[in-house]
Amino acid sequence: MILLDVDGPLHPWAANPKPDRYRLFEIKAGWRRRLRVWLDPDHGRQLRQLAQDTGAELAWATTWLHRANTEIGPRLGLPPLKVIEFHDATGWKYPAVARYAYERPLVWFDDDFGLHASRREEFVHKRRRLTTALIHVDPATGISAQHLAEARKAFSGHL
Ligand SMILES: [Mg+2]
Repeated sequence: MILLDVDGPLHPWAANPKPDRYRLFEIKAGWRRRLRVWLDPDHGRQLRQLAQDTGAELAWATTWLHRANTEIGPRLGLPPLKVIEFHDATGWKYPAVARYAYERPLVWFDDDFGLHASRREEFVHKRRRLTTALIHVDPATGISAQHLAEARKAFSGHL
């Protein structure tokens, strides 16, 4: 599994200035409100290639939930992906991801692994016999070639 967060890894909201390869999209977020989102259109191709080469399934793990498929995926050239829904307010994304990934090898791009440290430890401990790569992506850079290489390395024991 390759799990994708949007804000941070795909939309480097903290980058200033935004790297050249990013394009600005204004996404409607309700009556009159628009979100300014920076996306690198090449990320879609890079992530599809990663999934194909590693035999992994891409899925969304983002508070954008199903809107990731309507607003973000098409702008990156990603097909509709499974959306992991979060129902446990106390454990951040960990409980839902643990259930969805189950025993599958997991690479996860996010900028907020620092939240809920004890739930994180529990999550990693329960998956200690499974490939579990929590790849922190700085929201000032977004996913880079280095992060993608790290993902390939994590999966390499399972090819
Ligand atoms: Mg984020």
